[in-house]
Amino acid sequence: MTASQAILQGLSEDGGLFVPDCLPKLPLSLEELSEMTYQETAYEVMKLFLTDFTEEELKYCISHAYDEKFDTEEIVPIKKADGAYYLELFHGSTIAFKDMALSILPYLMTTAARKNQVKNEIVILTATSGDTGKAAMAGFADVPGTRIIVFYPKNGVSPIQEKQMVTQKGNNTYVVGITGNFDDAQTGVKKMFNDKEMAKELEAAGYQFSSANSINIGRLVPQVVYYVYAYAKLLKTGEIKSGEKINVTVPTGNFGNILAAYYAKELGVPIGKFICASNENKVLYDFFETGCYDRNREFMLTSSPSMDILISSNLERLIYRIAGNDPEKNRAMMESLAQSGKYEITEEMKQNLQEFYGNYASEEETAQTIQKIYEDTGYVLDTHTAVAACVYEKYKKQFQDTAKTVIASTASPFKFTRSVMNAIDKKYDVMTDFELVDKLSEIAGVKVPVAIEEIRTAPVLHDRICTAEDMPKTVKAILGI
Ligand SMILES: *Cc1c(COP(=O)(O)O)cnc(C)c1O
Repeated sequence: MTASQAILQGLSEDGGLFVPDCLPKLPLSLEELSEMTYQETAYEVMKLFLTDFTEEELKYCISHAYDEKFDTEEIVPIKKADGAYYLELFHGSTIAFKDMALSILPYLMTTAARKNQVKNEIVILTATSGDTGKAAMAGFADVPGTRIIVFYPKNGVSPIQEKQMVTQKGNNTYVVGITGNFDDAQTGVKKMFNDKEMAKELEAAGYQFSSANSINIGRLVPQVVYYVYAYAKLLKTGEIKSGEKINVTVPTGNFGNILAAYYAKELGVPIGKFICASNENKVLYDFFETGCYDRNREFMLTSSPSMDILISSNLERLIYRIAGNDPEKNRAMMESLAQSGKYEITEEMKQNLQEFYGNYASEEETAQTIQKIYEDTGYVLDTHTAVAACVYEKYKKQFQDTAKTVIASTASPFKFTRSVMNAIDKKYDVMTDFELVDKLSEIAGVKVPVAIEEIRTAPVLHDRICTAEDMPKTVKAILGI
């Protein structure tokens, strides 16, 4: 299986996730990389994974993805605040870190389709906890040869997230609210991918499915880039010395972002600890504590909805690694997860998890973190990033580890204005969503992002709703089959 085929297919035939056979070391030193732009770094990193893309193809994809859609030339600026380095991954068109991968995925996918002589129209099926959906539609809107259908939990996303999605333009974009939670949406999408009958019906009508979720390896690879870039930039600005180990803290849901950091380490970036931050859906924290992954628990709706997830799909790729790249062990655990909702790793595998630290932030701690960092520094965090900042503080207290730490800042506070403003001061709660936007701009001294200005007056273009069971029916209706 080539990289381009894996990107096209999304998920393997047996339902497993694609992983790289092996990970080479970076071909250049981090000092050399520190002189490069984001786009140049992206090429050096991505070519290690996407081995069947030509230089020309890959550079074409990169230059079309990381362009003026980002509101800063640096693409991912690093802000130092409260003793940590916030890697701002939210300067793309939908102001969440999903743009980092989803602005390039459509180019990777259409290039892959061309390389593999695909004639069918590609139907992107996506489940979203709020951010992926919008970022994927923004990426795929009006891309010839593709359609995109997004499922989101009707009552599980922020008002701004929902408005962003239902106002999406493009003749090939479809948005469906489901009466269920994110896991229901994700499970429903996975089922359709594995449905052989449905695949036949699609084929006959000239369609094939692919995925824009982080189960697609084409989502993961572009995310490795910014960890390499961040290290190189800290080196360039003299914040760290050559070879100095840094820690990385990531607010985690589906485990894609933190796994990308893990891959960056395998390429040679000196990373000490991977600090995995969860909200009250703390299934990963429990996993790191006990070695038992157990999704059988109440699903919590929190102020960091993009992390409201009980099945972290990409953990499968880490399990494979810590099982010594043993696909059979991995399969047994994933089957157990599918059947009983849990699995337990061996003592030996647990030993391979020592670079990871997991903890979580309660709703109250998350709000307190936003307020404290704002009051101390003037810097305003979104709710997801605040979960990470809070967990980082817990880690520091527990281990007295003073290593420099990069915190993945995954969303603009403008995307979660109400929760953010309420955390800063409850008196703001009487304001409307857009009054809050203006107030946030004023107190943070940050311009309202274009992504928010755009939806102030945009008309609602999508109003489909269905149950989780009816997802296949809805897809067929959309495709007219
Ligand atoms: C998707 C998302 C996350 C979780 O990232 P994963 O790769 O799924 O772990 C965290 N924060 C924000 C804002 C997100 O959109």
